Amino acid sequence: MKKIALHWQILLGMALGAIFAFIFIRFSWGTAFITDWIKPFGNIFINALKLIAVPLIFASLVNGIAELKDISKLSKMGGRTIVMYLLTTLIAVSIGLVIVNLINPGKSIAPETREQLMQSYEGDAGQKISEAQRQRDAGPLQALEDLVPSNFFAAASDNGNMLQVIFFALFFGVSLILIPEKTSKPVMEFFNGFNEVILKMIDLIMMAAPYGVFALLASLVAEAPSKDLFIALLWYAFTVVLGLALMLGVYLLIVWVYTKRKPSFFMKGMAPAQLLAFSTSSSAATLPVTMERVEKHLGVEDDVASFVLPIGATINMDGTSLYQAVAAVFIAQAFGMDLSLGAQLGIIATATLASIGSAAVPGAGMVMLVIVLGQAGIPEAGLALIFAVDRPLDMCRTIINVSGDATVSMSVAKSFGLLKEEDQLDRELTT
Ligand code: ASP
Repeated sequence: MKKIALHWQILLGMALGAIFAFIFIRFSWGTAFITDWIKPFGNIFINALKLIAVPLIFASLVNGIAELKDISKLSKMGGRTIVMYLLTTLIAVSIGLVIVNLINPGKSIAPETREQLMQSYEGDAGQKISEAQRQRDAGPLQALEDLVPSNFFAAASDNGNMLQVIFFALFFGVSLILIPEKTSKPVMEFFNGFNEVILKMIDLIMMAAPYGVFALLASLVAEAPSKDLFIALLWYAFTVVLGLALMLGVYLLIVWVYTKRKPSFFMKGMAPAQLLAFSTSSSAATLPVTMERVEKHLGVEDDVASFVLPIGATINMDGTSLYQAVAAVFIAQAFGMDLSLGAQLGIIATATLASIGSAAVPGAGMVMLVIVLGQAGIPEAGLALIFAVDRPLDMCRTIINVSGDATVSMSVAKSFGLLKEEDQLDRELTT
């Protein structure tokens, strides 16, 4: 029997999980059953993915740099990567601002609905606001200071410190190229083998993906807030999703025009990673799969993918920045505020920076949104307005976050002549 492609398996798992939950929540004991007996399997699956994120980033970065063997190439690659990441994020925020101003979703919110939403989610919003407060209290150079860990193991023991791990890996990799080859060779061979082991672990974890996403979707449906609130926020949610879809179009266009690969090639290659991003709402948890797909199915050489993707997963969040722009203007509209052009341009800058600062975990974009709101003079308590639909939108924006990283890695690879031809890829995949 022909094996069903992984993305179909994952999609089936997601659909069955949602259907299962819709049926079970009709029973009085259904939600508790899902929370106690199904949800843990979803958590186990996400934990397994996160478990390999730090060793993967470390091993693949060291490996990638060692293979480059050339520091000037590394800095050139770093420069192009950062420029592309910034450019795509700016495009994303701009798309968000244009469509939210065209659709004006905040103007259709009735004052009673606004009050109801504010009351229902006041507490949740307060929590995010106080989380953001800590970030805001930091000095201007805090982010730079945080980049350099004082203890590698402390940095590696917290998935929220990916940038510190990246810093150490870069430092280690560069030093490795600088020592004599005789001494560096065994270390490189070790990391090479280590990397292979991690890649095998990803393969094994992905065998459980259809079951993992079943559990994740079932628990999301079981815990979803009331239908009425969803409907009140439909226009807002539609605006975000439309913006994200347009951004996906921008990626496909970049890939098509610059790397001459068809949209179907990109989508087919990335589908399992995108579906996983949707189910887990975390680009960090999806990173192992994004790397595998980009290398094996999109043809990006490992030295590029292992450099560009871990950095992207941490700092490049186009979906998040687009959402922050839409959400900020939506909240302002719902409060009857008219944002001046200057304030909207300010949102471009703060949403770009806020998305860079957002951690690659569920709900992080919303914490940083508080800072965008504060800068634009929009009431932070307005966060309560968008709480009800934040999780599904988080799932959608995470798809864009990982697709953006893949697009940039293909473009950077192409610019260095390190993007494999399609027939070579086919040959590799069939052997
Ligand atoms: N969940 C997103 C991610 O991991 C971040 C966010 O927008 O909340 O990419």
